[in-house]
Amino acid sequence: MQISRRTMLIGAGGAGALATVPVVQKLRWDGRDFVREGYDPNLHAAPEGKEAWMNWAGNQRATPHGVLWPENEAELAEIVRSAAGPIRPVGSGHSFSGVAPSDGTMIHLGGIEGLRGIDPATGEASFGAGTMLFNAAQELDAKGRAFENLSDIDVQTLAGAFSTATHGTGEKLTALHDYITGFRIMTPSGETLDVSADSNPDLFAAGKVSLGALGVITEYRLRTVPAFNLKRTVTVEPVRDFLGRIGELGATHRHFEFFYFPGTELVASLVHDVTDAPISDAGEADDDEVLQGLRQLRDALGWAPFLRRWMAQSEFPQGVIEDRVDSSHALLATARPTQFVEMEYHLPLEEGPAMVARVIDMLDRRKEVYFPMEYRHVAADDAWLSPFNGGPRASIAIHSSPEERYDFFFTEFEPMYLEKGGRPHWGKLHGLGADRLKALYPDFERFVELRRDMDPEGKFLNPHLAQVFGEAANA
Ligand SMILES: Cc1cc2nc3c(=O)[nH]c(=O)nc-3n(C[C@H](O)[C@H](O)[C@H](O)COP(=O)(O)OP(=O)(O)OC[C@H]3O[C@@H](n4cnc5c(N)ncnc54)[C@H](O)[C@@H]3O)c2cc1C
Repeated sequence: MQISRRTMLIGAGGAGALATVPVVQKLRWDGRDFVREGYDPNLHAAPEGKEAWMNWAGNQRATPHGVLWPENEAELAEIVRSAAGPIRPVGSGHSFSGVAPSDGTMIHLGGIEGLRGIDPATGEASFGAGTMLFNAAQELDAKGRAFENLSDIDVQTLAGAFSTATHGTGEKLTALHDYITGFRIMTPSGETLDVSADSNPDLFAAGKVSLGALGVITEYRLRTVPAFNLKRTVTVEPVRDFLGRIGELGATHRHFEFFYFPGTELVASLVHDVTDAPISDAGEADDDEVLQGLRQLRDALGWAPFLRRWMAQSEFPQGVIEDRVDSSHALLATARPTQFVEMEYHLPLEEGPAMVARVIDMLDRRKEVYFPMEYRHVAADDAWLSPFNGGPRASIAIHSSPEERYDFFFTEFEPMYLEKGGRPHWGKLHGLGADRLKALYPDFERFVELRRDMDPEGKFLNPHLAQVFGEAANA
């Protein structure tokens, strides 16, 4: 959450006061077990000849024949041609949805990575598709260039981030795949195609956000901008004074987002703007500490909303809690040490403020929720399966610890988002299949047709993608 270290934990005095509140509700709450049935954080065992794989959050698992790391396109072509059964390209495993896993063969492009060159005339940079975002950002920085924006974290691979329409925040800033000006893709037959808007406009518009369903992308050519520094300001304040200012904050800052802390009636807003000011001290961002404090509050006071709110408002720091200047890539992405699962829906921009007010209300009513909600803005682009195709969107993300129940994401929140034309993040949890999706995306059926042309035997499908594209499951 990029909030500086402060006393976000419940103070000893407050905890002492709680001990003197003898109520039946408290006893009932204390007796509650939040851990969901069947939860197991450990990597599962794989039968002989198979490998165990799970994603970062631990909610997606597979037992493929192997997770293979080709070192070059020739090795990749050999794998793609000879693999028996389905194939899935995989990045850093940071998607919560089932886009990546396969019990067939999984291919990681960690061996096909790194900066290959920058065109001095246009600033366009070529990278191996397995390059991790932070490596790409650092290599660009060393050459005086940068990406226009970044997501909250930067450990994803370029191919993984682009293929699910990964985004940052900024009303005038597009999602990351919009930087693509060309790519190389390996088809199911092991053939490689060089694709650009001129050479193959349909495959270009489809392949920027492909969910890895069209083939294995091996290289990208990307638009970059001159390197720049940002000034970040983080402010914690009561939600009631804040919601009416979403439009103004979004319009006046290059990057604007906020987190709502359930049960506290407090928000932390983050704005970033370009600056020439000198780089300041690094600060002490510690998301873990914030989460620990929020969890403690829930555990101790979830039964008493008024007390929970009161305690949060007396213990949490308020006002401007951070002002910092650094390079854009150092400020925009941070580490997320605590695992979670997430559902994020992208709503038409004008629906954002009303929807987020409803979401906050619903999170507060669910007394067990403590993970913050995140709200961002993203500008429009034209990739066929981009959730931002056709207009800017407001993105609302809700989270849960993987060990707790999160079925309410699907039963209570997803239907509400769909009513207002919301589109799901492809890399995050959603329950949609082709029937719903084709009504949400004007180019959805074109994509499905192109996918069938590229991969008629469904070599690159898995059960999740079969559901998304309305095809028979392959494995
Ligand atoms: C802690 C955390 C924070 C996050 N923050 C953000 C955020 O701020 N904004 C946001 O939008 N999302 C965010 N995400 C989601 C994340 O950016 C996406 O899920 C992204 O796809 C993960 O990239 P990855 O490299 O892990 O790819 P994976 O999850 O491994 O794969 C994603 C997709 O890419 C495909 N793929 C991978 N490599 C290739 C290839 N070479 N060719 C073709 N297809 C390929 C896979 O088949 C799959 O469909 C976050 C996720 C986590 C866990």
